[in-house]
Amino acid sequence: MNDDQWRERLSPAEYQVLRQGGTERAYSGEYWDTTEEGVYTCRACGAALFTSATKFDAGCGWPSFYEPTEEDNVTFIRDTSLGMERVEVRCGSCDSHLGHVFSGEGFGTPTDQRYCINSISLRFDASSGGAPGEPQGSGTSGTAQ
Ligand SMILES: [Zn+2]
Repeated sequence: MNDDQWRERLSPAEYQVLRQGGTERAYSGEYWDTTEEGVYTCRACGAALFTSATKFDAGCGWPSFYEPTEEDNVTFIRDTSLGMERVEVRCGSCDSHLGHVFSGEGFGTPTDQRYCINSISLRFDASSGGAPGEPQGSGTSGTAQ
């Protein structure tokens, strides 16, 4: 897909983030405080990138995940813009910009990483009744009040 095709396919705001590496304003996106169960896919190509099971509240104003669904469905690029050493996260399927990943911040997640992703780079698909083959309600979480 060339640049003109991306422009046609995406809204100007989506294009600015996904194809030009922009960042939406904190607390301005659709998904920063979403807690429903489901899958977050790439807004540009539809690849499954993250699930609600790895989403956590980092208090930063962007959707935060501690790991992608598959390690190879995202790619990492060293980003030294803004005078900072950061790691950019892109979609492994269409190479669109998603956000950045930070390590060792002490959030107590299994990976100690924070994938700080723009809401506008994602599309949320709410799951209707859990993953196939996985019985629901048999966990140890009990009945939350
Ligand atoms: Zn993609």
